[in-house]
Amino acid sequence: MSQFLRCPACNEVIPFGERFCKYCSAGLSYEAAQQAAEQFAKLSEACALANNLNTMTPVAPIMLVSYGLATWWDWISPSRSFWLYGLPLAPLLTAFYWFLSYRAIQTNDTDFQQARKDVHKSLLVWIPTTIVLIVMLVFLHRR
Ligand SMILES: [Zn+2]
Repeated sequence: MSQFLRCPACNEVIPFGERFCKYCSAGLSYEAAQQAAEQFAKLSEACALANNLNTMTPVAPIMLVSYGLATWWDWISPSRSFWLYGLPLAPLLTAFYWFLSYRAIQTNDTDFQQARKDVHKSLLVWIPTTIVLIVMLVFLHRR
């Protein structure tokens, strides 16, 4: 659980354990604070993971071009090909995991909205990338 939470009344970040919000002086019950702290921790995790996915997204076109060339020029030995071509599964599975874990979160948090968009974008990039790489793999093994 997080050491911080967002005040349910004014949405400012406050430390867990305070009985009153220092920004708006709204009173916080222990249960409400605990719930808000759990939500805060979950949102932070979701945003951090989405951020990781987002940094991987530009790798997809580079991967497609280099794998395309490598496949075409026969630089990849078929014995090594499975783990090489399996690499895009990492971001793809991470994106699926993200939706399974955080899809149900209801919040107006703008960072989380951005995170959700980033994960959508990464799926839109990695699904076709994976399909193209599978086609390349099949092509490689047929020769
Ligand atoms: Zn407050």
